[in-house]
Amino acid sequence: AAWITEFVTATEDGRPEPVVTGKHAERFGGQLVLVTGAGSGIGRATALAFAAAGARVIAVDRNAEAAVATAEQSRLAGAPAAWAETVDVSDEQAMEKLADKVAAEYGVVDVLVNNAGIGVAGAFFDHTAEDWKQVLDVNLWGVIHGCRLFGGRMAARGQGGHIVNIASAAAYQPSRALPAYSTSKAAVLMLSECLRAELAGQGIGVTAICPGFVNTGITSAAHFAGVDAEEEKRRRRRSARLYGLRNYPPEKVADAVVRAVVRNEAVVPVTLEARLLHAMSRFAPRA
Ligand code: NAD
Repeated sequence: AAWITEFVTATEDGRPEPVVTGKHAERFGGQLVLVTGAGSGIGRATALAFAAAGARVIAVDRNAEAAVATAEQSRLAGAPAAWAETVDVSDEQAMEKLADKVAAEYGVVDVLVNNAGIGVAGAFFDHTAEDWKQVLDVNLWGVIHGCRLFGGRMAARGQGGHIVNIASAAAYQPSRALPAYSTSKAAVLMLSECLRAELAGQGIGVTAICPGFVNTGITSAAHFAGVDAEEEKRRRRRSARLYGLRNYPPEKVADAVVRAVVRNEAVVPVTLEARLLHAMSRFAPRA
């Protein structure tokens, strides 16, 4: 998994200093990569992985400070340029403004990673209408806005590109604990496959990444909201059993994202359990 970057904390201020290794180093030299939800977890790791592979990075997050921190780390990681943009991906007008600004100031995005996502834990009838709306607005509509606005410009340019949507293993499996989240991710998976078929003739690849349980902020927020320490321990043990690895790091998902772009893969399950669910699901590869 360390074929692109290996992070060591060697800088004086304690920020990670990447060591670029392997044949994909500098692979994305000069390319423009935009990552949403880049302020944390999988999004930040993905921004840094592309930075280490030579890309110019736009780190988009609704959390301004977090986006700036990722942009700074991206420069340290080797990005020739990196910018932070504070945008809520579910806000259509804000996304339109961002797309116009990016086109005017940075150019056409070569690789778009729609990663921003949220989870609300709770049983179906415990979800309020507002819960459903919030989750679908960010997880589904955020991806739709990204694909329409940045993918549209990619297609119009006519020089190819790639779109990566971060779905989830939750897309494969009905859940009593995360109904809105699972629904949104199943939709993102189908959207990605539809768009892949649509753009196939234009040299634009579309990938859905389906991670299982990864150690990030979202897992603590969504899975452990309101539970006591003992219950959290029990659930973490259960996840560790289910997902095969106790500490699946976001950097490994980032590696899978970069590899998927290089290889133009359609649907990529990440973690052991996600791979099993993928193999068993009706979403098994079709094309
Ligand atoms: P995270 O909470 O660590 O990071 C999410 C980032 O997205 C945060 O920086 C947050 O500020 C930002 N964000 C949230 N809503 C936003 C919005 N409306 N506009 C802009 N930015 C927004 O979460 P993560 O685990 O890194 O999750 C990233 C993606 O991976 C999500 O789509 C998530 O559903 C998916 N995923 C995560 C796991 C996991 O186990 N962690 C598993 C499968 C899929």
